[in-house]
Amino acid sequence: MPSTFKTEAVVLRSIRYGEADRVLHLYSADRGRIGAVAKGVRRVKSRLGGRLEPLARVRLVLHEGRGDLCTVTSVDTVHAHPALREHRASLEHATGACEAVLRLFDSAESNRPAYNLLCHHLALLDSEPAAATRARSLAFRAKLVLAAGFAPELAACATCGEAEGLAGFSPAAGGVVCESCEAGSFHFGEGAHAFMVQALASPLSESPQAPDGALAQADRAISETVEHHAHVRLRRVA
Ligand SMILES: [Zn+2]
Repeated sequence: MPSTFKTEAVVLRSIRYGEADRVLHLYSADRGRIGAVAKGVRRVKSRLGGRLEPLARVRLVLHEGRGDLCTVTSVDTVHAHPALREHRASLEHATGACEAVLRLFDSAESNRPAYNLLCHHLALLDSEPAAATRARSLAFRAKLVLAAGFAPELAACATCGEAEGLAGFSPAAGGVVCESCEAGSFHFGEGAHAFMVQALASPLSESPQAPDGALAQADRAISETVEHHAHVRLRRVA
């Protein structure tokens, strides 16, 4: 049955389609991923076009027909994030965040924590260029992976429960491991461990800093965990 509904969403990706249309990959607040066609938006006089840029947070009315794609009926801007496009680093970090959401959240199931986290990250990147750091983007990604249900075990050995001598990270075991269980793990130093614990415990706006080596280990822990358990490949955070 064709129907019309309202939702709020972030435009993750926009692809040219036909003569004047675009296909949008949207991540919505209450319906998870939505694919939609925006008709005529590449025409100069289109009222919808300018509001449906990637990274924009919008309120939409969508028409659901028989096909896989909805049709955009109307759009209001919630937050256009105009400053994001003025700083190359901000734009790259924001685009990377949308790409991670595209890969990790592909179902029509709502995940409000993930949606709120994405909106918050984009708003912070828009308001302060200094937020465009590897540490901030990794903190975002750690929280995103948590929202997706793949929280790494950080408190004790993921294999045997030992609380001391945790010097490795095992993507297969899903967390830190002790010396006796280190098979299949890579070196995971105190700096990386502390960064991950703090990143998950503090609000995104107060995310921790860490040296590059520690960030590289945290990045590897996050991406190999989702690769192993969700079969999703995430590009490393630069
Ligand atoms: Zn162990």
